[in-house]
Amino acid sequence: MNMKYEIVIGLETHVELSTESKIFCSCGGHSASNEPNDCVCPACSGMPGMLPVMNKRVVELAVTAGLMLNCNINRYTTFDKKNYYYPDLPCAYQITQLNHPICTDGLVSLKTSQGARDIRIKQIHMEEDAGKLVHGGNYSYVDFNRTSVPLIEIVTQPDFRSAEEVVTYLNKLKAMFRSGGISECEEGAMRCDVNISVRPEGSTEFGVRTEIKNMSSFDAIEKAIQYESQRHIDALEYELEELVQETRRFDDASGKTFAMRNKETEADYRYFPDANLMPIVISDEWLEQIKANKPEEVDEKARLYREAGISDKEIDMLIGNNKISKLLDDVVDAGCNAKDAAAWILTDCAGILRKDGKSLAELEITAEQLSYVIKMVDAGNINRGAGKKILIAVVEQGVDPEAYCKEQGFDAKVDTAMIESVIDKVLDQSAQAVEDFKNGKTKAAQAIFGACMRELKGAGDVAIIKEILDKKLNER
Ligand code: ADP
Ligand code: MG
Ligand code: ZN
Repeated sequence: MNMKYEIVIGLETHVELSTESKIFCSCGGHSASNEPNDCVCPACSGMPGMLPVMNKRVVELAVTAGLMLNCNINRYTTFDKKNYYYPDLPCAYQITQLNHPICTDGLVSLKTSQGARDIRIKQIHMEEDAGKLVHGGNYSYVDFNRTSVPLIEIVTQPDFRSAEEVVTYLNKLKAMFRSGGISECEEGAMRCDVNISVRPEGSTEFGVRTEIKNMSSFDAIEKAIQYESQRHIDALEYELEELVQETRRFDDASGKTFAMRNKETEADYRYFPDANLMPIVISDEWLEQIKANKPEEVDEKARLYREAGISDKEIDMLIGNNKISKLLDDVVDAGCNAKDAAAWILTDCAGILRKDGKSLAELEITAEQLSYVIKMVDAGNINRGAGKKILIAVVEQGVDPEAYCKEQGFDAKVDTAMIESVIDKVLDQSAQAVEDFKNGKTKAAQAIFGACMRELKGAGDVAIIKEILDKKLNER
């Protein structure tokens, strides 16, 4: 036959929210745990009689995500119990939203190599994550740290037509959610179920779909789409196997998908409203407040950074790291120049961390500390070299920059006059060396510098002394 086929894909994407606590109890949220089961209480480990208490922040982040994805925000939203039994789900049900999800009918615009594409969002709902099974030796262990970590699930219409569109969409979500403080979307914190079908080009009816569960690497998603769509095409083309609607898993090693056990339908989950949770009603005031606090869109943010003279490469680094872009925004709010501040963070701070084998994500400095250093340099109170030294001490040892600056005598206003007078004296006494320097003997400058250092007997900052000497030498 050799017909041409169109690939049709719909995505269900689970994203762990960056909240301080879990969705229905006060245990720390995603990434709060260090050891297995160190972030667990009677509620999230499903003890009998426990009652869930809704985390308000989850609603706010879900609404923010909905606004970013151009959804309708439903003012009346409820929770349902989805019943199934599995060792990582201690209650034997998951609290999720079926009948009244928080957001519906959104739209995401993509730019791909094939041109612009619009992907419709069917809905966004809030739910709790399940725990984790850890297999070792002859035993399996269960870790409840992840139970009740808040998730939003974003369900698209079957609007994707290629793996490229899927990956472009996921990258866009990731950038949006990071910049919006919704999720850092680290490895494993963003997981997709990929629904695939194929149909003869021109056909208006959808083919039988299969669902590949729980994919987190974008690379693997691309490979899985490639394999699975080809399997569908081959099935239709050569009638080797009959396609059935089923759940499959992708095996990274072989690059193939395999059918999974279950074939639950909605009826198997016996969904029913969770009577322990009141319906949530989002008032006009609350919605306005969430809108007002909504961070700028990624594109808008990038535009502002570009206008401030920050380079595209730096913008990518900032947009990809919510903590760092917030630091920059706060430093700018404190009165520093954006382009300068970006260089201090992305070049200087990053360099200090790199020396210790750390990444920018591990930067520990407050906007107050950093803006102090930048302002001291900008005001000419200290030179850049001294600023850098203070920065190193702040980043590596967490010192107070103002105290450290005084202690080290970097505050040039204190002793610049003294340094200048010593340098003037040395220059007066080194007429020959100055003459040599002017005639192109750069080594002469080193000799003069040495003489200054001897005369100053260790007082003053080396960088400042060099700077003043350079200036004075060139004036002679
Ligand atoms: P269900 O209620 O069975 O889970 P949904 O209508 O919620 O089904 O769809 C689940 C996901 O599957 C959605 O992302 C949707 O876009 C996608 N989907 C539905 N039909 C198809 C199809 N024929 N081909 C590819 N994806 C599909
Ligand atoms: Mg579904
Ligand atoms: Zn808990």
